[in-house]
Amino acid sequence: MGSKQASFFESVQQNFDKAAALTNLPKGLLAQIRACNSVYQMRFPVKIGNRYEVIEAYRVQHSHHRAPTKGGIRYSSMVNQDEVMALASLMTYKCAIVDVPFGGAKGGVKVSPRAYNAEQLERITRRYTVELIRKNFIGPSVDVPAPDYGTGAREMAWILDTYMTFKGSEIDAAGCVTGKPVNQNGIRGRTEATGRGVFYAIREFFNYKEDVKALGLEPGLEGKTMVIQGLGNVGSYTGLISSKEGGVKVIAVSEIEGTIVDESGIDIEKLIKYRKSKGSIIGFPGTKALDKRDDWVKIDCDILVPAALESQLRKDNAKGVKAKVIAEAANGPITAAAEEILLKKGIVIIPDMYCNAGGVTVSYFEWLKNLSHMRFGRMEKRFNQNNRTMLLDKIENMTGKSVSKRDREMIARGADEVDLVRSGLEETMVNSYQQIREIYKRRKSVKDMRTAAFLCALEKVANDYMTLGVFP
Ligand code: NAD
Repeated sequence: MGSKQASFFESVQQNFDKAAALTNLPKGLLAQIRACNSVYQMRFPVKIGNRYEVIEAYRVQHSHHRAPTKGGIRYSSMVNQDEVMALASLMTYKCAIVDVPFGGAKGGVKVSPRAYNAEQLERITRRYTVELIRKNFIGPSVDVPAPDYGTGAREMAWILDTYMTFKGSEIDAAGCVTGKPVNQNGIRGRTEATGRGVFYAIREFFNYKEDVKALGLEPGLEGKTMVIQGLGNVGSYTGLISSKEGGVKVIAVSEIEGTIVDESGIDIEKLIKYRKSKGSIIGFPGTKALDKRDDWVKIDCDILVPAALESQLRKDNAKGVKAKVIAEAANGPITAAAEEILLKKGIVIIPDMYCNAGGVTVSYFEWLKNLSHMRFGRMEKRFNQNNRTMLLDKIENMTGKSVSKRDREMIARGADEVDLVRSGLEETMVNSYQQIREIYKRRKSVKDMRTAAFLCALEKVANDYMTLGVFP
């Protein structure tokens, strides 16, 4: 008889304990950080066609060491309390790692979005929001949801509108949720943010010569092969940006309907369009489908990107992994038991709580924009543009040489909102990688990047608790 597989939450707790054992923090403080502070489990009726369905849903606030709490809302038939608690915990550590001043939270509604039409999903979303308002589990200074698996800008717009109906007189009401459409108080660059952040995370790893050489690879991303599981929000932008800006070759993609392979590289932009029109990735020109969908884990590649759901790499399939690096775009795609096997094989794991933190980073920018009631770049764009134009004119006058029209446009251009968002995201992902790597390299007892990331988070969260005077 095999031992029982740890649940997602247990897996997160095991990883926490592994890192906590390496700190000198007081036991009581560690226990407080580890625990989920508030778990709201709800059930509410929604009229679907001519009958009522009782919907099961959750909102978990893991840590209140900073306010508001923050985390996405997941729509999936697999949602359960253990999963939402695990995801809320990860949010606390994630926010700490990327210096986003929020506590961690997560929401889940146990529905398969595919089983409902848009009108029914709107009814479910609005009713869920009302439940959150009634229990004070939503608000710009309380708890701020965002998109996650099965939700996107459309759902966030419904949440905003419902919140405004009840609390429209609050001056900062627009900051009650992030990931909103740009024309409804959203921010440019949020939709792609998680995938773009995953790209920066991978790029950072491949920038460190000694770390990359240790895997028998050459530094730099150009020409590296990638396999992606899940062509949703995170997976598709990771693939698109890694190939366009990093020169990565995506050789396989796995989705619900199967896994397709093309060693010469798959055009992700065309594949996304193909799936939209055909409803499947199978049959995409130039690719062949694997007999078994789940064999994507066994494909020989440089970078494996699980971007679907948790527990995809488990004790039973971890041995077959041939990748050199796994970038955890999804939350919790590797179980604690699988991680042991993968680390023994010498595989580098870029951990979820850092790797996919781009989403919450840009959500933070969106929240700041909502509180400031002004688009980023509005004040300084023209000033910078005029200044640089003047400087270019002076240089031309002094040297007697002229700058080409294209160069002039590039140099003089003032930053727009999307430029600033991307710059802030890149800065954050690069900085946080360096912090984690520093711990990984400096502390001999730290054997993997996840433990280093946990230590990085633990130090910051513990510090906040101490500043609050909770644990003097
Ligand atoms: P999504 O719903 O947009 O996409 C997920 C995709 O995975 C879907 O296309 C789905 O069909 C596919 N999928 C599901 N099960 C699969 C399987 N067994 N094999 C292959 N494909 C499968 O969700 P998303 O927002 O891209 O989230 C994906 C993961 O990233 C989740 O773990 C989520 O928590 C995490 N994440 C998302 C964000 C965000 O900003 N959206 C931020 C951080 C982390």
